[in-house]
Amino acid sequence: MSNGLSYSGYCNNCKKEHSLPSEKAIEVCGLLMQKFAAYEHIDYLNEQTDPRLSTHHLYGNVGGKMFGVLICKDASGKEVVLKAFSSTYNGIWNVEGWVPHLASEKDFMQIVEKGNSEIHPLTDRIKTLEKNSDGWKLKTEQRKIVSQKTLNELFDLYEVFNFKKDKRTLKNAFNLKKGIPNGTGDCCAPKLLNYAALNNLTPISIAEFYWGKPSPSGDKVEGNFYSSCTNKCQPLLGFMLCGIEK
Ligand SMILES: [Zn+2]
Ligand SMILES: [Zn+2]
Repeated sequence: MSNGLSYSGYCNNCKKEHSLPSEKAIEVCGLLMQKFAAYEHIDYLNEQTDPRLSTHHLYGNVGGKMFGVLICKDASGKEVVLKAFSSTYNGIWNVEGWVPHLASEKDFMQIVEKGNSEIHPLTDRIKTLEKNSDGWKLKTEQRKIVSQKTLNELFDLYEVFNFKKDKRTLKNAFNLKKGIPNGTGDCCAPKLLNYAALNNLTPISIAEFYWGKPSPSGDKVEGNFYSSCTNKCQPLLGFMLCGIEK
């Protein structure tokens, strides 16, 4: 692609790569950035009453964030613009006007709390044991198993649809043999594409940009566009984009 951006993934079913162009969505992202700059709020369509949704947080502790736009066509051919922020916004999972998170917040927090209630006593016990003693090794191993089990339960909450109306758990949609990284499914592209698939919208263009203070490593800068991440999104997008070429 001429602008160097890529939103694509290899599909194991079709044995080929599916991809979406970005040019049209880049224009819409530009308008979104203007709104962010003017209103300093992500709820600019409403009364901007919730201070938690101010963009000021993106320059403070919360740090900068990825935002994405997906342009789709509905069944009648009308264009529909979808917007997403990655993960949660300042701790808020779902904001009106933005596509929802893939998992249910209530179910997610229940699993986290259950996991913590098993992990914290083990951590306290481990602190009292001599490092590398048999007891220490045993409890450390137990804690590892519990935290892995919790992560697996969290991943099972994420289901994704594609444009052939096939549904998979995130783990089954992920096409790399190595383990699925933490945070997979929380980026803009999976949220946007899943919403489109569920609502009979056909995607035509996607783009993602960064807003806020530069990322700690300095690899992300406000106003710049970035391709889908290679470790979490690209292995999902082959499945998720399947069926877009109608
Ligand atoms: Zn990603
Ligand atoms: Zn395919």
